[in-house]
Amino acid sequence: MTKCVPYEVCGCGKRGFFDEHDAAKSLGRAQTKRDRAAQAWPTRRGMVRESRYYACPDSGLYHLTSESKQRKAAPMTNY
Ligand SMILES: [Zn+2]
Repeated sequence: MTKCVPYEVCGCGKRGFFDEHDAAKSLGRAQTKRDRAAQAWPTRRGMVRESRYYACPDSGLYHLTSESKQRKAAPMTNY
């Protein structure tokens, strides 16, 4: 697998995709890779599975994230 979705390293250090389409494509690829790794890793301890993408507030690029992280980093300001 040599073909990659184009991305740029964001100011926050993560891979940033230029649009949702690329992010979604890369997300699917990451999940396939994770699932394969999970099969070869019976305990699955510490496995992270990217489950969604979001727009970076700094750059507007799209990053992949795991759901647990996303839940933590969702401070809603509802005043
Ligand atoms: Zn970023």
